This record gives sequence, structure tokens and C-alpha cells, in this order.
Amino acid sequence: MLVSHFISNRMRAVDLIRKKRDSGEHSREEIAFLVAGYTKGEIPDYQMAAWLMAVWIRGLTHAETTALTEMMLYSGEMVDHFELPMKKVDKHSTGGVGDKTSLILAPIVAAGGLAVPMISGRGLGHTGGTLDKLEAIPGFNTALSLGEFRRVLKECGLSLIGQTSEIAPADKKIYALRDVTSTVEHAGLICASIMSKKLAEGIDALVLDVKTGSGAFMAKEEDAIRLAEIMVDTARRMGKKCVALLTGMDEPLGRMAGHANEVIESIEVLKGRGPQDLIELSLELSAWMFHLGERTGSVAEGKHLAQEMISSGKALARFRQCIQLQGGDPRIIEDYSLLPTAKHQEQVTSAKSGFITGTHCRDLGTALAILEGGRDKKDDIIDHAVGLEFHKRIGDAVNTGEKLVTILYNSEARLPEARKLIENSFVLGDHQPPLPPLIRQVIGG
Ligand code: URA
Repeated sequence: MLVSHFISNRMRAVDLIRKKRDSGEHSREEIAFLVAGYTKGEIPDYQMAAWLMAVWIRGLTHAETTALTEMMLYSGEMVDHFELPMKKVDKHSTGGVGDKTSLILAPIVAAGGLAVPMISGRGLGHTGGTLDKLEAIPGFNTALSLGEFRRVLKECGLSLIGQTSEIAPADKKIYALRDVTSTVEHAGLICASIMSKKLAEGIDALVLDVKTGSGAFMAKEEDAIRLAEIMVDTARRMGKKCVALLTGMDEPLGRMAGHANEVIESIEVLKGRGPQDLIELSLELSAWMFHLGERTGSVAEGKHLAQEMISSGKALARFRQCIQLQGGDPRIIEDYSLLPTAKHQEQVTSAKSGFITGTHCRDLGTALAILEGGRDKKDDIIDHAVGLEFHKRIGDAVNTGEKLVTILYNSEARLPEARKLIENSFVLGDHQPPLPPLIRQVIGG
């Protein structure tokens, strides 16, 4: 659909900025005018920046958020998968530290009979990104054309790529402007940005993993709930099935953060091993994907199917096939030494005894970024070999001198700053704290 279809040529950006500044509600036509005008270069940065700030302060209604999502989606191509008979489902996470579930659930769900066309992002700041993790696999190509993306999906039921220039170009331009005008952290703008890319994948259903806690983008639970509600509402207004799982990010997910070591941990789960929290969340998200994709009649049945895909080895076989089809070296599944390896290791130990009552999870992610395992700016180069291995979790008892974290690193110069952050990231108390559930609630379930 052409965005110009919605636009009247009598509009002016200055009037729309004033309208939002004065708390007005835009029509779809007005939002189409702004998105198309900015994408084509007819509305300058300074006017779009003023409008974004007015939005940040005055907000967007649900109808405006849907219109913005829609217009950003229509600014580019929508992938179709008409030739595939099965439902297409995907998952999106708002990001955190050690969050590697995409690498696990995509092969599980594909092995269980649905298609998973996944267009993912890179890590930014303290959070990791699926594309960066996959690129730790030698040869793995995340920059497939849309034609190759379709071909891989048809052959193995899953394909994982990055945003191409054809997908939601308006988001690419608007996001870059938000990044430098302090207008990123707004639920409606985040929703439109994420959903325009996800809906371009040609999916029937989407499961959202909205993180809350000290390592989440939305640290406060009420903000995370609001974001989840807006995203579910927008997806449904656009005719897609959608639920959001609100999940804890008060500590890293699993035992590993980094790239090569998160690939290893994901493969361990696909081999039927791995840490309990990561297994639990991966199974639950897969179960919801099976249920929304109408592969199973209930979430409980979906969970059973997900477990079966792991125990039968079928999910691991799909992952191997996907690696091969996207140009990667599948031998990494048996031989982890083929993945990038850091030159040095260093232990961080506890300065006192007690119980771990919390972590400054964002700082753990930032420490990894300082070691070049993350990026400050979108085009920073990252080191796939560096990582953190966590030996203790919230609720664990720890003695003075006991290991908390193993740092895998290459740069001697960057180690002291990262180490200091890690040392200060663990909060100790005298009593074992109550453990909050990993999955707090399901929104729209
Ligand atoms: N990720 C996105 O793709 N967009 C946002 O606005 C925030 C996070």
C-alpha cells in the first residue's frame, strides 16, 4: 500500500508540530504525511525532531501509535511467504543481558512445524543482540537478501537476518534522529519502531518478551507493562495474534553473556542441558509461539512439544541446517573451539560472605561492552570472543573469596574499568531473599 494514498497535499509540518505540542490527536492522514515527508527528505530533521519531542512530552493515543506503526511499515516492503502452508510466528525481546532465547526457540518452533522468519537487531549499550551472537559463528551471514531469506526459510523453517534497506526505511531514519534527540525512551515510539520491523516479516503471530528489572530497557515494572500493553494492542489492531510475557531481568539470563559463549550456552540447551532459567523461558516462549501459531490447542501442549523437539534432537538438527544454509560452519555444534576464543581469563571473587540479594544487571552488560563485547554507537566493531561467565545467582550463598564471575577478555587496557563495574554489581545481604518468578505475567493471554 502506498503511504501517499493517505496524504492530502494541503498539510504543513509546522501545523502538525503545533497540534501535538498543544496535546492534539493526529489523524492517520497527518501521521502518513509526517512519515512519508520525512522519509523522502521533504520534512527536515529540525521539524521531525520538534515533532518527536512534542510526542515524547504529550504522548500518542493507541490509534496514533497504530497509525505510526502502519505508516512506518508501509514505508518499505512486506515479505510474503505465500508458498509456505504453515503459520509464520516470531518472538521479539525488548533486550537485556545474556538474553539468547532466539537462538534456542527459533529451531525448536521450526522443528515443531511452524515457520520462523526472524528479522533481528544488534546490541546497543548494555544489551546484546541476536545478530551479533550469530555472527560469532564463523561464516554465518545475517545480511541475506529478502530472496535468500525466503529460500532459507522454505528449506529449514527458520531464517535469522538483520533489517535490510527494504524493511521499514522510515524507522531507520526516525530511529537515528531519536537517538540524538533524547526521544528513544517513549513507549509509543518504541512500539512503532519495533512493530513496523516485526510486522514486515509477514508473520501471523508474535510473542513478545518484555523485560523488567535492573538490566532492562524499561527497568520499572509499570513502564514495562505499559509498553507490553501498547505493543499487544497495536499488533492486534493490525490483525496479528500477539501476547507479551513480562519477564524478570534483575540478573543476567543463564550463566553466560557475550557472543561466542552465548552461542555455546544456546547449543547446550538444544542438547538438553544448560541452566534452568534459560530452559524455562525458552520453553515458555516456544509454547506460546506454538499456541498462537495454532500448532497446539494450548500453551501446556506447546510446552510439551517444545520439550520433545529438544529431547528428540530435532531442534538441534534444525539449528545445524540453518547455520549451514546461512554460510556458517556447523562443526561448531560439536567443537566449540572453532568459535572465537578470548586470550585471557580473570576471576572476580566476593569480598565478603552472605547471600546475593540483587545485581546491578545493567552494569554487568556495560562491563561487557567496555571489553568490546558491545557497542556505544551503532557502527562500533565488537569482539565476539569476550564474555562473562556468572557463577552465582540471586538467592545463592557466597563465601569470602568465592568466584562470582569469570571474565573472558582480550584488551588488557580495558580490563580494570570493566572489572570495577563487575565487582560493584553484586548486592549482598545477611538473609536469603525471596525469589521473584522469572515470568511475572502474560499480557493479552
Ligand atoms: N529497538 C528498536 O528497534 N526501536 C526502539 O525504539 C527501541 C529499541
